Amino acid sequence: MTSITRRTAMTAGAALPFAAAAPRLASAGGHAAAGPKTNTFSLGGFTVSTLLAGTRTVTDDPQGIFGMNVSEEEFDTVSRNNFISAEAAQFFFTPTIVNTGNETVLFDTGLNAGGIAAAVEAAGSSAEDVDVVVITHMHGDHIGGLAGDDGTPTFPNARYVTGQAEFDHWSGTDNENFANKVAPLAEKMEFIGDGGSVASGITGMAAFGHTPGHMVYMLESDGEQMVIMADSTNHYVWSLAYPDWEVRFDMDKEAAAATRRRLLGMLAADRIPMIGYHMPFPAMGYVAEGGPDGAAFHYVPATYQFMMDT
Ligand SMILES: [Zn+2]
Repeated sequence: MTSITRRTAMTAGAALPFAAAAPRLASAGGHAAAGPKTNTFSLGGFTVSTLLAGTRTVTDDPQGIFGMNVSEEEFDTVSRNNFISAEAAQFFFTPTIVNTGNETVLFDTGLNAGGIAAAVEAAGSSAEDVDVVVITHMHGDHIGGLAGDDGTPTFPNARYVTGQAEFDHWSGTDNENFANKVAPLAEKMEFIGDGGSVASGITGMAAFGHTPGHMVYMLESDGEQMVIMADSTNHYVWSLAYPDWEVRFDMDKEAAAATRRRLLGMLAADRIPMIGYHMPFPAMGYVAEGGPDGAAFHYVPATYQFMMDT
């Protein structure tokens, strides 16, 4: 298959984010997870769980999603040298729940209400226990679980935190997901900017580009840190190792690349672990500078670091 045919194979869905692409492809040979998987560990005094709210195989032209501005040869070489297919990708959707000791804080809500409620329960909490829901940005795979199809809020006792710039952007559009899932909760929402606080030890950081008001969150407890990177990097090789590769879902591609470089550089320099919403489960790891085939960074998946008390 030549570069031209692969590019030409891009469908009319070219501008759609993960949320729209994923369900459409579920019938194309994807495998649903048998049930929610969770990964729970301590970060200082916090208890953190990553929740696998969904995963599926996407066979619709990965290069057209993750490597829009590179040659087919480069995309194929990098994929082969990282032992992954250039013809298909596994998508993961991974909300995170943090118990600070005072509050239970959920970051993003997956694709739908049933999925996130089951994932939260699998982690030992219930929807009623969630005190704060943080929305990193307003693509459908992050806001879908805020309410059921009938509009019933999934988290009856929660307050909500999201970026002011993100809310302002989507409220100026006629986006159906925003109208159905976010707008009805607006009165319960607190809007923050760069440096805004969610709870003690949880701080928002502007990470614009993927969407106009996309934000990431620094967790800090007892001297330990971790960053919830949301959709700053959408693939652990194609986006994380090559931050300048254009991603179809990044609304401002130049800003998204600059944000990736800035955040990944910080994580590498300060040796801070990260959770990435679309990283392979359990979706947490480290970032190191450099790598093969001209990589700017490489992803080091977490292994047993968080099983130890030292
Ligand atoms: Zn996403």
